[in-house]
Amino acid sequence: MSHQPVALVTGGGRGIGLGICEALAAEGWCVAFSGLRDASDVTEALERIEQHGGEAKYIRADVSVADDRQRAIDEIRSAFGRLDMLVNNAGITSQGRDDILAAGEASYDKVMDVNLKGPFFLTQLAANYMVEQMETGVDLRACVINISSISAQFISTNRGDYCLTKAAMGMLTQLWASRLGEYGIPVYEIQPGLIRTDMTAAVTEKYDRMIADGLLVTPRWGEPGDVGKAVAMLARGDLAYSTGQTLTIDGGMHIRRL
Ligand code: NAP
Repeated sequence: MSHQPVALVTGGGRGIGLGICEALAAEGWCVAFSGLRDASDVTEALERIEQHGGEAKYIRADVSVADDRQRAIDEIRSAFGRLDMLVNNAGITSQGRDDILAAGEASYDKVMDVNLKGPFFLTQLAANYMVEQMETGVDLRACVINISSISAQFISTNRGDYCLTKAAMGMLTQLWASRLGEYGIPVYEIQPGLIRTDMTAAVTEKYDRMIADGLLVTPRWGEPGDVGKAVAMLARGDLAYSTGQTLTIDGGMHIRRL
């Protein structure tokens, strides 16, 4: 069994997930991360994570598929012999970014499956494994972190399905925080604002303009490392008495201003 704590970060091969993996590795965590791409496409990500000192493992697994979720947990069990923390980070935006007067069910179903059903049932698997380990006396640094979005608070009428999933992650966080309290497993939600990743690459100019026009209190794009640092803080146990809490990492975007 690994002597270091082990985290599973879904969608950890790029973007915010990679920022989270790097921040955790720098704090001595072993990091397993999942994604859809071939293993040959994530060698650079593996190297970047391991440069921070931690051991890293890639698991090709679709978070929306039940068998893949189970296999991800099984692979961690056999590779590390333990799992301390789950970071539900993998997510997709609305397919086509269509206005809600025209948006179709295919995007709705896909976004729900990846952004909501996946995290709900992966948390169930990870939590049961964490409880099982605790009952055999393993001293875990147990924690679950859900990466939702400022879209839980801000509507975008061309990404209705996405906004719904991110708002629902707040309830998902409350449900799991409440259920896992008796085991001392805190559950948190992080709402990133505008973070510079592949997901936002298509709308860079739009958000550049909005930032220049005063959208944010801290007038710059967020970077994956901004979210990574918040996850590292929660993973250290610095907010151990704050289960169910939501952190916004958004440059002050949520502050209502006149
Ligand atoms: P990204 O750059 O598009 O990366 C998405 C990651 O999720 C990739 O690693 C991808 O894997 C993985 N992924 C996608 N579908 C998956 C599936 N079905 N199963 C497993 N992995 C899957 O996105 P990002 O900007 O880093 O976003 C990460 C999270 O932060 C998402 O939940 C997003 O909603 C949230 N968020 C982002 C922003 C932002 O401004 N960027 C703001 C608020 C919240 P592959 O690499 O294999 O394709």
